Amino acid sequence: MVTLMSTEEYIQCPCGRIYKSPEEYKLVFLKKEQCEIDILCANPACHLKELGYIKFKVDHVHRKAHVEIASFYPPFVTWNATRLGRDKANKLLEEHLRYILEKRIDWKRIALEAPENCSEILEIREITGEEAGEKGSGS
Ligand SMILES: [Zn+2]
Repeated sequence: MVTLMSTEEYIQCPCGRIYKSPEEYKLVFLKKEQCEIDILCANPACHLKELGYIKFKVDHVHRKAHVEIASFYPPFVTWNATRLGRDKANKLLEEHLRYILEKRIDWKRIALEAPENCSEILEIREITGEEAGEKGSGS
């Protein structure tokens, strides 16, 4: 059985490029010093270009990377929410983001290659007498 779907069933960039699969986005790890991976439109003539981004932190001791924020930019989200309805667009976009995070990014390599400033900050701090007092005196 063949199901024909109209373009309204798919995520689309405002430039017209259709995304049937999350494999089709272009990912670039250019902003290394910002610990960020950009999700770019596959259409080189796209006026938006950047559709989303992924920010991560690296645990250099355990050589592991983890996602801090993964997000599509509002113009891309709004465009799809207008076309598909907000619920459907959000669901599809979330699936795409999840797929990109789980299947398309080589986190092991990123953990190795990410610069030192992408490290997690582990802070060990004791509550000082003053802070403990503040917390106890809630109004
Ligand atoms: Zn585009």
